Amino acid sequence: MSVALFTLGGTISVTGGARLTGADLTAAVPGLADLPVPLEIQDVEAMPSANLTLAKMLDVVDAASKAISNGATGIVVTQGTDTLEETAFLVDQVWPHSQPFVLTGAMRNPTLAGPDGPANLLAAARVACSPAARDLGAVVVFNDQIHAARWVRKTHSTSTATFASPNAGPIGQLVEGQVRILARPSRQDGVPGRAEPSDLEAARVALYTVTLDDDGVLLAGLADTHQGLIVAGYGVGHVPAVLAPVLGELAERIPVVLTSRTGSGSVLRNTYRSPGSESDLLARGLIAGGFLDPYKARVLLRLLLATGEGRDEINAAFAQHH
Ligand code: ASP
Repeated sequence: MSVALFTLGGTISVTGGARLTGADLTAAVPGLADLPVPLEIQDVEAMPSANLTLAKMLDVVDAASKAISNGATGIVVTQGTDTLEETAFLVDQVWPHSQPFVLTGAMRNPTLAGPDGPANLLAAARVACSPAARDLGAVVVFNDQIHAARWVRKTHSTSTATFASPNAGPIGQLVEGQVRILARPSRQDGVPGRAEPSDLEAARVALYTVTLDDDGVLLAGLADTHQGLIVAGYGVGHVPAVLAPVLGELAERIPVVLTSRTGSGSVLRNTYRSPGSESDLLARGLIAGGFLDPYKARVLLRLLLATGEGRDEINAAFAQHH
């Protein structure tokens, strides 16, 4: 039995010139040796998380699945924090095991005073070998909090308390090194098919954030180059009236998902009626993204398109987030 640790780079491993390996990282963590099971390290790549791709993360999921088959009690992935809310959500959609898949990183690199990487890595490893953390899917462990992948957001550019779940709060905490699960969200249906790299490349999904006095010119011809579109609308899911027919025409050709640019809360479905309101857009064929933020909605739609799911399955997948 072991915890399988996969390292992917990011601030947790940055020391100026060189990048720390998993062995370097773990050597700097007091308390890791007292875990009930040893860590088995696989250095995958050392990169800024801006360069991660869905295909790369799916490769890590495959390697993690092999580790589970070989008896690992849980998985820890260290990576950069910038895209962690998206990779965690992606993993959650495809992780079939009851063993925890934990993602973590750091906001202060190891050369700074008070680096948070060692504490985050220790907390993540504790969660990965905790029976209490089984059947939670993918979680983000950071700053002694445990966040469900479907809710977690990076909310601050520099704070070590950057990860938060604005819609639900953390589902657990580490207290005196013990894993305490406070809320146990039921697992949702993931995306069943297998997304091959070429299918992911072919599933191009645009994200369009609506802004004041928006003329929508960028949307022209989008269905010729993209297979899906996420709209980050105002508030509960509104756009300027002039954009409503443009989005309606796009929705006749490709799936168009309506989300909120606010950072928390759900889009509505049936409250406002004017052109460009949520009910108008849904009547024009847009799909309500519920509580999903635009970034996670984009991951989900890309995965669904890459696995060949049709409109009904896409509608059902997003309906789980209402
Ligand atoms: N820019 C870094 C990255 O995401 C930030 C971090 O690791 O926290 O790779």
